[in-house]
Amino acid sequence: MKILVINCGSSSLKYQLMDMNSRTPLAKGLVERIGLPGAILTHRPKDGEKEVIVGDLPDHVAAIAMVLDAIVDPEYGVLKSLDEIDAVGHRVLHGGEKVSGSVLIDEQVKQAIEECIELGPLHNPANLAGILACEKIMPKTPQVAVFDTAFHQTMPPEAYLYGIPYEFYEKFKIRRYGFHGTSHKYVSQRAAALLGKRIEKLKLISCHLGNGSSITAIKGGKSVETSMGFTPLEGLMMGTRSGDLDPAIVSFIMNKMSWSGDQVTEFLNKKSGVLGLSGVSSDFRDLENAAEQGNYRAQLAIDVFVHDVKKYIGAYAAVLDGVDAIIFTAGLGENSPLIRKSICDTLGYLGVSLDEEKNLTRGQEVDVSKWGARCRVLVIPTNEELMIALDTEEIVNNKNKAS
Ligand code: AMP
Repeated sequence: MKILVINCGSSSLKYQLMDMNSRTPLAKGLVERIGLPGAILTHRPKDGEKEVIVGDLPDHVAAIAMVLDAIVDPEYGVLKSLDEIDAVGHRVLHGGEKVSGSVLIDEQVKQAIEECIELGPLHNPANLAGILACEKIMPKTPQVAVFDTAFHQTMPPEAYLYGIPYEFYEKFKIRRYGFHGTSHKYVSQRAAALLGKRIEKLKLISCHLGNGSSITAIKGGKSVETSMGFTPLEGLMMGTRSGDLDPAIVSFIMNKMSWSGDQVTEFLNKKSGVLGLSGVSSDFRDLENAAEQGNYRAQLAIDVFVHDVKKYIGAYAAVLDGVDAIIFTAGLGENSPLIRKSICDTLGYLGVSLDEEKNLTRGQEVDVSKWGARCRVLVIPTNEELMIALDTEEIVNNKNKAS
């Protein structure tokens, strides 16, 4: 089976064409500046040189048409015909409470995505535009939606409710949703495979540490608690996002700066986090370099981040009543031995014991614990595209069996 995985942003589109026999991409690429003058498609076929194509793309229909043209191009394409694409899997940010898994897209699903626009105003409209564009160009090809929030729908009410009047949950759906679900699901499944244990028997803490970061407690393969909340602003301090803070700070800043609520939200999303604290960068590579050269605020930002992660791991170990393995994934989790070591340094009480040599690994699936450590520490590169393709494959196979 060949599956096209699409991840639409408001002015960008990432794609991977997955060959499900080898579970590897035949081609991948990125379209930038959709709706702006001078859009650019960068297409990377598996065994060829990257191809950069420039053109004006007024909307997502035009962008997807350009991607499909590249996929079947006689020179740098990887398929002879679009009929070879068996299904399309779409990454969708928010499914609200209605969606607890990946689904075959129909009118009801599209309506559910539309209804969640107020919960995911930046992403859901773009995700929907991508779906409508594919429907237009490939009307016979089945399409599946894979939601960032779906994996966390197994959280119990005590984990997803906030301490505000219940009517605000009922009326406005204010609750914790959680994000990065596709990544947490993928790495938890890989962790079970790596440990050679059934996922139903495992208590895992998955740390997705990148520019956006979240931690999830996973019991028996199900999310039971996660650090991001109503929006991806809650939880750990991140690249540019503040993470948790006293809610009263919002009105305090509004008064001090004469800002609107939207301005404060923007400030907490884009100007805060390790960028704001360090004044150096949102990128941990820059922070590590600056800290090494004695930059106090860069070191401070790293210390606050590490402290945050430890705090969540401790809390989630309590929620899970023990932990069999801690997983590190995403740009920082996969690639920074320093951050992993700093986090694990004080986790001996959980049975963590890091093998410092193994911990030097970057971007590979490795158990970096010392032999015999009670709680394993696993580095597992995330692969959200593969997870989307696997879910899509399963749903399309079930549909074919049923018909
Ligand atoms: P992501 O959002 O998953 O792409 O992760 C991006 C973050 O990972 C950025 O803060 C990068 O600085 C960080 N990162 C990537 N590679 C490394 C590395 N080798 N060492 C430290 N941080 C890294």
